[in-house]
Amino acid sequence: MLSPHYDARPGDTQPELIVIHGISLPPGEFGGPWIDRLFTGTLAADAHPYFEKIAGQRVSAHALVRRDGEIVQYVPFGARAWHAGESQYQGRAACNDFSIGIELEGTDETPYTDAQYEKLAALTAALLRSYSSLSDQHVVGHSDIAPGRKTDPGPSFEWPRLRAQLSR
Ligand SMILES: [Zn+2]
Repeated sequence: MLSPHYDARPGDTQPELIVIHGISLPPGEFGGPWIDRLFTGTLAADAHPYFEKIAGQRVSAHALVRRDGEIVQYVPFGARAWHAGESQYQGRAACNDFSIGIELEGTDETPYTDAQYEKLAALTAALLRSYSSLSDQHVVGHSDIAPGRKTDPGPSFEWPRLRAQLSR
């Protein structure tokens, strides 16, 4: 499922950072076509009151891991998805330029599922193998690169669990 919301990374920029996000639409509800529609630019503003303010946003992520572990890719990993917004990592701004964004369907408070950790770890490991520019030392949350503005994937995301799965 390709998103129209992406473009080329600037120059010869390679992905050097993986950014983990959490998303649910409407907030706190799982399932439904809404995340797909947001990222493909087909979300109807009148389908839910919350959608009025986000329906026109041109946003995307490279991939989504649904609650059941299904992975949906929206943007080629070599291209620039529009997931980070105003952001900074180790003094470098505009994280979309040099990152890969992976969304987990969830909230800051709800535990992510076993299937999501499994598939996220497998996807991350595959990306680390595919791009020598990536490193397991440079995997962060959206809240880490946009503090004060973003809170996802939230306290519910168990970083030690992902790290343990990556080091297996
Ligand atoms: Zn996010």
